[in-house]
Amino acid sequence: MHFNSSQISLINRAFTHAERLAETYFRLSHKEMKAYRYEVKTLEHLEDHEIVDRAFAHLCKYHCQNGKDDFQFFRICLQDDRILNAVERANSFIKLVPLMTYIATHELVHVIRFNSGESDFDAPLEEKIKEEEKVHNITRNILKPIAETDLKLVIDCFRDQYNIGDIFN
Ligand SMILES: [Zn+2]
Repeated sequence: MHFNSSQISLINRAFTHAERLAETYFRLSHKEMKAYRYEVKTLEHLEDHEIVDRAFAHLCKYHCQNGKDDFQFFRICLQDDRILNAVERANSFIKLVPLMTYIATHELVHVIRFNSGESDFDAPLEEKIKEEEKVHNITRNILKPIAETDLKLVIDCFRDQYNIGDIFN
């Protein structure tokens, strides 16, 4: 199951929205945010090792060396099938746009914290679990002021039953 083109454009909008929210929350300029290199890929464009079956998203860190350009970047690997499955299973109870707004915001919080050194991508599992909890809390704080009914449902679901699964793989 892959996202169709209209779902992909909704997802792009969710990431743009999440970027603005994260900039405001962390008091970053748009330029500073852009310096945190990340890209978003959907299932169709993922490598085998980027596909995980228990997660909504898988966050990978890469190092790129090409001539004098030497940098690291993050790839947010969206698992289309898991996300679509959650939306379908929830029977219009969980909607794609608020779910993607949550996932996008959550992933950007990780990217910002890894880049600023507040969190370590290669930390031991125990620390990663604590970090995941922190990132969920920050995500909730970012989204609370704009949360209408559909987004509130998603926030509650992540508190009780969902796990994004990104850094545990
Ligand atoms: Zn996470």
